[in-house]
Amino acid sequence: MAFVKLPAEVEKDIHACLQCGYCNFVCPIQLNPDRGFESWRVRGKMYHLKRYAHPGTFDRLMRRRPEITPEFVERVYNCTACGYCQHVCHANIKFNDRWEQVKEWFVTNGAGPLDRHKALRTRVIAKHNPYDEPHESRDAWIPKTAKRSRNPEILYFTGCTASYRQQKIAQDATRVLDAAGVDYDILGKDEWCCGSPLIRTGQTDIVRDEVDGLVKHNLNEIEKRGARTVVTACAGCFMTLSHNYPLYAGKPDFKLLHLTQFIDKLVADKKLKLKKPLPKKVAYHDPCHIGRHFGIFEEPRRILKSFPKSSYIEMKHNRYDSQCCGAGGGYKIQFNDRAEYIASLRVLEAKELGAEMLVSACPFCVTNLTGGAKVAGVKMEVAELVSLVAESVS
Ligand code: SF4
Ligand code: SF4
Repeated sequence: MAFVKLPAEVEKDIHACLQCGYCNFVCPIQLNPDRGFESWRVRGKMYHLKRYAHPGTFDRLMRRRPEITPEFVERVYNCTACGYCQHVCHANIKFNDRWEQVKEWFVTNGAGPLDRHKALRTRVIAKHNPYDEPHESRDAWIPKTAKRSRNPEILYFTGCTASYRQQKIAQDATRVLDAAGVDYDILGKDEWCCGSPLIRTGQTDIVRDEVDGLVKHNLNEIEKRGARTVVTACAGCFMTLSHNYPLYAGKPDFKLLHLTQFIDKLVADKKLKLKKPLPKKVAYHDPCHIGRHFGIFEEPRRILKSFPKSSYIEMKHNRYDSQCCGAGGGYKIQFNDRAEYIASLRVLEAKELGAEMLVSACPFCVTNLTGGAKVAGVKMEVAELVSLVAESVS
């Protein structure tokens, strides 16, 4: 890539980096045995960017400069957007945004994204979902028995994973809302991909387009339903709607809640009573995009503890120190085997603890941890918290 200026905030932060290395020991990418070298590490990538933008005296004398090579681009895309580097950074660098800005910069300058990421963009433009599924069947999961309201208080934003790949989770969400007597509606075919996989891979043009971008479309449809609160079970949708949408379109008129926050309140208000116990000894995996990014730690745990004679146990790595499942940031689509290997380590951690079931609060984590259990070769059921709640209340 010919020399081009770094995005302004990245330029500022390459000078803030102390090269102290606290970030070196937390990145899930390094759980892959051949990804431990400095060039795969956050500190190494920051140093590379700094020397690219500011070559040393000797480099200038020799009329040379470090390049942005395809190998370096691949290393930056080796990221699950887990937020751990931001959490530990001693210079307070806001990596959650910075990595996305670097990837956007790659895309703008023709150096990114990686091959499989390009397909995401094509599919979302053609079918409004990254799974290459027909848009016409986006609402096929909706049970005929779902008690949808024409004047809803709550809008359940389903997301692509639950609409196409984890439909039982979406159906269980409606069972829970029905059991609590909530006035809700679902966008169905009016919902498009929230844009998360595109934003995380730097392909933001069709997300932020002011005429027919994903943000514009989804916000219009949400507004038409008139609901004051939007609830989503997917951690990726939650992160996108709560963090990225306001960046692109300003503060929305609705309140956004993750489904675990909403259920926690329903239980506290005695609108939902958990009647049946947890089916097994359960450990909880914190999804990065609601956990480390937004501090939603206690709501899912309170729900788990509300089951009669709760058999919930705590993982060794939990809350801010939770270990990523490996799925996010566009990592799974490009490096599926590595993503499932990372997930297998999380499953083994739960197994060593004595858990019989690993529960999460994100359909995408559930998908990857299920793959991880197969890779680990251990018997471990993986489930979504909302499915356990649906079983307990019905
Ligand atoms: S966000 Fe997570 S995966 Fe990405 S570089 Fe930081 S620690 Fe590594
Ligand atoms: S912890 Fe922050 S300041 Fe230290 S090396 Fe990593 S990125 Fe740089």
